[in-house]
Amino acid sequence: MPRQSASGAGTKTDAVIEVHDLQMRYGAKDVLTGVTFGAHRGEVLALLGPNGAGKTTTIEILEGFRMRSAGTVSVLGSDPAHGDEAWRARIGVVLQSWRDHGRWRVRELLNYLGRFYEPYSTPTQHRPWDTDELLGLVGLTEHADQKIQNLSGGQRRRLDVAIGIVGRPELIFLDEPTAGFDPHARREFHDLVHRLADFESATIMLTTHDLAEAEKLADRIIILADGHIVANGSADELAREMSTAAEVRWTSDGERHVHAVTTGDPTGFVRDLLATDADAVSELEVRRASLEDTYITLVQRVESGQDQGSEPPLQEVLS
Ligand code: ADP
Repeated sequence: MPRQSASGAGTKTDAVIEVHDLQMRYGAKDVLTGVTFGAHRGEVLALLGPNGAGKTTTIEILEGFRMRSAGTVSVLGSDPAHGDEAWRARIGVVLQSWRDHGRWRVRELLNYLGRFYEPYSTPTQHRPWDTDELLGLVGLTEHADQKIQNLSGGQRRRLDVAIGIVGRPELIFLDEPTAGFDPHARREFHDLVHRLADFESATIMLTTHDLAEAEKLADRIIILADGHIVANGSADELAREMSTAAEVRWTSDGERHVHAVTTGDPTGFVRDLLATDADAVSELEVRRASLEDTYITLVQRVESGQDQGSEPPLQEVLS
């Protein structure tokens, strides 16, 4: 389950990301057409959307790697377009794979990279991580003295994470962090994300195509489609906004029934069902709309042209 404590909009003072009416145009093509959202300290945000929706563009603008066409953006109190070295030291970027330095050993590389962050230590945030502590955190203690080229895919991915967070960032961007992980590695990684958010108060923004992962990890989910936000809220809030909130299934007299509860609370429907003929009903099952149902419905709505981005997006209702 995602952590319950950090959901919600947060206060003005702990805002880490503030994006208002962000627009991006490549040549004659509008890729972001007015994106507005925020994130606060310790919040885990998942940015979802089909390929080409504008996720990478959004994240690269926040990271300061891409210049926006219009809109206002503040990340850790600065405009990323003018972020200096001290600002950059507060941000961790975990890329899809760190391919260089194959002959270096894990501990050696982390020691080396960590030193660049020493000048950016503050009384409240010591930088970098102690290397042994970091190795423990990402589960690489046993591989500390191994050459990078000899690591398995999963171990390499954990090293990518360690490299991204070696400077003890306050804000971490993770691009499809668990692609290629086996279920065990995936669970360990989810624990790591929770630890960073809960104990380090790091704000985490991740992209993933794994909707179960987003549902499990994120306090808030933002769905981007065709250059604008079509949903912004917790997985529960998003599910509640859907026309089919829940499905009730049951067997009665040997026959299987399915009823989509489109309004209100499925409990009322179940109560009525049991009141009618409790003895005949068996194998009763209530299934809430999953994030996958919500996602598919919203994205299809955009792709079929029903959502032109002009109606008030869900985030105005939810945030
Ligand atoms: P996502 O990460 O959601 O897949 P992107 O942000 O990578 O989406 O891309 C959004 C759209 O912008 C796509 O149509 C892509 O082809 C286009 N695009 C991305 N980068 C550039 C670029 N440098 N020049 C022109 N078009 C680009």
